[in-house]
Formats: sequence, C-alpha cells, structure tokens
Amino acid sequence: MSIANNLASIKATIPQGVCLVAVSKTKPQAAIIEAYEAGQRVFGENKAQELQEKAEALPKDIEWHMIGHLQRNKVKYIAPHVSLIHSVDSLRLLEEIDKRARQNKRTIPVLLQCYIAKEESKYGLDEIELDELLNSTSYRNLKNIEVHGLMGMATNTDNQLTVRKEFEHLKTIFENTKRNHFAQIESFNTISMGMSGDYQLAIETGSTMVRIGSSIFGARNY
Ligand SMILES: *Cc1c(COP(=O)(O)O)cnc(C)c1O
Repeated sequence: MSIANNLASIKATIPQGVCLVAVSKTKPQAAIIEAYEAGQRVFGENKAQELQEKAEALPKDIEWHMIGHLQRNKVKYIAPHVSLIHSVDSLRLLEEIDKRARQNKRTIPVLLQCYIAKEESKYGLDEIELDELLNSTSYRNLKNIEVHGLMGMATNTDNQLTVRKEFEHLKTIFENTKRNHFAQIESFNTISMGMSGDYQLAIETGSTMVRIGSSIFGARNY
C-alpha cells in the first residue's frame, strides 16, 4: 500500500470535524511530500530539531504539530514554525513557550497534556494539577500562548475496555475544564486523543484530533 492509499483509507473512517495529524516522526522528507501531494497538510513530529529541519525544508503551507515530550531548552527551535504544541505538561514549559512566542512576535496555540494511562512512563498533568495551573496568576499573565484544549495517551494495551475508560476520562476532564475555565472561549475546543491502534475508539469517545503515524507511513525503525 502506498502512503496516498493509506491516507485515503484512514480518511474514509474519520468523520468531518475530526482533524487528522499525520505523524511523520523519523520518516524522510520524501514520505512527507508523498502525503502532501495526496492533500495532507497537518503533520506531527516529536523531536524539536527534526521539526525545525523539516519545517525549513518543506512547503510553507504545512501545519507542524509538536506531539512529543518537549524540553524547555528546545522550545526555541520550534517557536517560529509550530502551529500547535500538544504536549504541554507544566507551567514552566508554558512560560518558556510564551517567551519564545513573544520573541517571534506571534501567539502559539497549545494543548495541555493530561495523564490518563496506567503507565508510569507517560507524561501529563492530573486534573488537580491542571486546575492549579489554570488558576495560577503566572498562567493568567501569559499573553502569547492560547490553550486550545487537551491531549492524552491511553495505556498501550489490547484491552479495549481500559482504553475506552481512559478516553472517557479525558473527555470528562475536558468538559470540566471547559466549564470551569473556558466557558465563553470558543477556541478551547480540541481533544487530541487516538493513534493508529486506538483512534476509532477515541473518535467514539469524543476525540476531535487523532495522531496517526504507522498506519499512514508504515512501521518506524528507531
Ligand atoms: C508516535 C506517536 C503517535 C503515532 O503513533 P502510531 O501508533 O504510529 O500511530 C501519536 N501520538 C504520539 C504522542 C506519538 O509519539
């Protein structure tokens, strides 16, 4: 199957209103061009310098999403290029993104990453930390970031019930957060959840943005 064919068959299963992020991490520019020529414009990367290199080399109408864990000292590489950062998991990181956005005379949209899985290895805020962040004065003073929603990753398991419960949990956190902090703010509208193995379940439980890599580009060899 070609990348264009893979994209077409995935798109056929995704309803209107759900954004498809094609996760191109580790993949060569030629693979991204192939997806681009098939009409795909939103791509996800998980390493800051790789995102920077690809953004500088590839067509300017591509939207680059940072989906991987982001260290503060790497924000500067992506600040001019990124259209959404999915993986914000601390106030200090958010402050650095705000600073780099200001230096680039722009606003950077972000998602706050929530911890919903049963795996220690996964990053993210729990619901209490999320509330604390959004209630803090430091957060309120940030002018160059805009929080567009939440992101989460389910446990890597074949147990569909576990994954479903975790996605439903994120949806509940989203609704609470919307009500308590963003009630009048239309741009807080994104739930980024679902990958190649679980995106259909994610869509059933309220995802508005899926991040799909291997089903489009094939398996990654790290
Ligand atoms: C790699 C990655 C994906 C895509 O995973 P696939 O299983 O290849 O679809 C999605 N989200 C994040 C955060 C990732 O790092």
